[in-house]
Amino acid sequence: MIEFAPHIGIIDTLLAGREGLTGCCVVRGDRVAIVDPGAQTSAATVRDALHAAGVGPDDLAEIVLTHIHLDHCGGTGDLAAAFPRARVHVHRRGVRHLADPQRLVTASHVVYGDMAPVYGGLAPTPAERIVEAPDGHEVDLGGGVRLVMYETPGHAKHHMSVLEAGEGTLMAGDALGVELRGAGLYPSTPPADIDVEAARASIARLRGLDPAIVGVSHFGAPSAGRGVFDVADSLWARMGEAALAGFREGGAQGAAARVVAEVPMESAVSEGPARELWDWLGWHRDNLDGLAAWADRQVNPPPPRE
Ligand SMILES: [Zn+2]
Repeated sequence: MIEFAPHIGIIDTLLAGREGLTGCCVVRGDRVAIVDPGAQTSAATVRDALHAAGVGPDDLAEIVLTHIHLDHCGGTGDLAAAFPRARVHVHRRGVRHLADPQRLVTASHVVYGDMAPVYGGLAPTPAERIVEAPDGHEVDLGGGVRLVMYETPGHAKHHMSVLEAGEGTLMAGDALGVELRGAGLYPSTPPADIDVEAARASIARLRGLDPAIVGVSHFGAPSAGRGVFDVADSLWARMGEAALAGFREGGAQGAAARVVAEVPMESAVSEGPARELWDWLGWHRDNLDGLAAWADRQVNPPPPRE
């Protein structure tokens, strides 16, 4: 367990056997919560780390999810089984997927491709233990420790960020970006529903919460501290502009080419283990696919749904 903020530690989920890639926050008031258990392939690691920290099978009260991408939520069903008193708090768009995960897992594995086994799937959570979290949803852990879930779409439509309101610690999930050790922050813009304007509005909203401490899921405290909002907003804006201009010139390939030329990943993640992870996991390719698809939706808006 890595000490992170008052009442909050981080379990390194050791996704893909790698340190410092994906974190699970443990929040302690009178009761204990975790924020994002991580991938299903990390469930045993997280369970054992909780036990080692003195959180027995009956002691985990709440599992809070920032979003239902498998690197964040995949362990939920396994951990709900290992900690049978825990409730699971999730955005309304996530409720049915947690109870009946097959469609979500199938769709996610299409995006992950060859890397799907790294993440694993998602076991179902009993429906009666799932709590739909509206904007502003509070999870009171007692002892002055209180989690508030804020809708922060952008990285995904259903993304929520979590503020520990007692001390002002923000767990931003993937709303701002990814910052692996030895690299700078860079946004994560995967298919299929990123939204650049929504992301920028979410970043402004998170800035307005004026958190004392900021953390991101991948991984821990960004080097810019509270300056991370400026860094994230600038990158999201520039990536969106480049993708749009490129898409108008040359479709999806044009969008990818302009992003690579104008907001290169090397500007934040130049080389070394962080760069190797971005490339190996396919996150860089996913980013370009997500931005191109978003630009396509702006230029060729889909017809409104019935
Ligand atoms: Zn993530």
